[in-house]
Parts: sequence; structure tokens; C-alpha cells
Amino acid sequence: MKKRKFIKQIAASSLGAAVAPSVLLSACSQATNEGNETENATVANEVVSFSLPELGYEYNAFENTVDAMTMEIHYSKHHQGYVNKFNAALKEANVTSGDLVDILSGANISTGIRNSGGGHFNHSLFWESLVAGGSDPSETFLAKINQTFGSLDELKSAIIKGGGSVFGSGWVWLIQNNAGNMEITTTPNQDNPHMQVASVQGKPLLGIDVWEHAYYLKYQNVRGDYLKNIMEIINWGKVAERAGIA
Ligand code: MN
Repeated sequence: MKKRKFIKQIAASSLGAAVAPSVLLSACSQATNEGNETENATVANEVVSFSLPELGYEYNAFENTVDAMTMEIHYSKHHQGYVNKFNAALKEANVTSGDLVDILSGANISTGIRNSGGGHFNHSLFWESLVAGGSDPSETFLAKINQTFGSLDELKSAIIKGGGSVFGSGWVWLIQNNAGNMEITTTPNQDNPHMQVASVQGKPLLGIDVWEHAYYLKYQNVRGDYLKNIMEIINWGKVAERAGIA
């Protein structure tokens, strides 16, 4: 009994001896870490935020295709609303890093980030895809279009058909799919092909908004006419640039 007690005491004291410095060490390193963590926390707490991009043209730039009031409401109310809600959703989820595409293509994004972040990305891409008076694709890009869709007219028809097929609100896309080929796809609501929920994922080259707010004042229920007309003000140079084609 005595021997056992003695061993127990030795064990306890050596344990104590072994523990004591490590407690001190850990207390020291904890103090140091706390200092670092406070510093890191200051940086880490800077939640990512986004702002409404410049439109790059006047609201009446496409008067024969999209009326000025639709442009103004769409940009200054709808898009601004998505930006505001997106920033609130990023704060809510404490998102402290990543660019827009990183955030949207992430796993398990919140509903707020999906809807309003998608809204911000989609509209930003949409505004940049339009040019007053329209444009022609470069020879290189046209060759790629012909190779994939037969002709530019057939590509436009495929986009119009895709846009017409969206039930309710959503987008029709020309994407560069993961195999590197151009493809037409659609998404509901403010989803886009960067998102993991998209039925076809890829890099968006062109996105056309088919929500009623994009065309209702001028076209009412006739989405097909809106799509047909908007195909004539596409900035194909911008679309080609996104595809990495000169
Ligand atoms: Mn819209």
C-alpha cells in the first residue's frame, strides 16, 4: 500500500512538473495568439461588399429596343436592390474573402447570397453585353459561332428559343461549358451557370434577362419580340472577350 501510494505521488508530482511548464507555455502562447488573433480579427472582420457598377451609357441609349424608363428602374431600383441585399447577406454569412465568382461558385451558399449575389452578377454582365446600334462579331469569333451553331442567325434563334422556354422569371445564357464549347442554357430566378445548383455549369459569355421587369413596359406579355429585338444590340466583342477570343 505504501509503495503504491508513493508511486502514485511520484506520478502525480512528475505529472505536475511536466504539466506546469506546459501550462505556462500554453498560457504564454495563448497570450501571444490572442494578440495575433485580435490583429487578424480586425482584418478578418472586414466583410466583402459590392457596389453598383457604372452603366456606361444613358438610360435612353436603346430607346427603340428597351425604353428609358425600363432601363432606369431596372438599373437604379432592381439592380441596386440586389446589391443592397447581397451586401446584407454577405454580412449575415460573415463572408470575408473571395471575388464575386468565387463566392457564387462556392458550396452551400445561403439563399440570400444565391438570389441577390446572382442578381448582382447577372445584371452587371447584362449591362456590359449591350451596345447602342449593335455590333458584328469579329471574323475569328464568327467562325467559332458558325462552327458551333451554323450561323450567327441560328445562334440568335437558339437564344430566343431558350429565353422563350424559361417558365416564370430567369435568364437565358450563352456559356462556355466545362468542355470548352459554347452552349445555350437557362437558369430560373437569379441563378447563373457559375453556381453549383445550375443544371449546366460553365462560364457565362452572354446572359439575357427574361424577367418581366426587363421588358414589360414596352412589350407587355410578348417576351419573344423583346428577345428578337435585344439580339440586335448585343456587344459581340464583349461576348468574344469573355470567351477569350479576339
Ligand atoms: Mn433584371
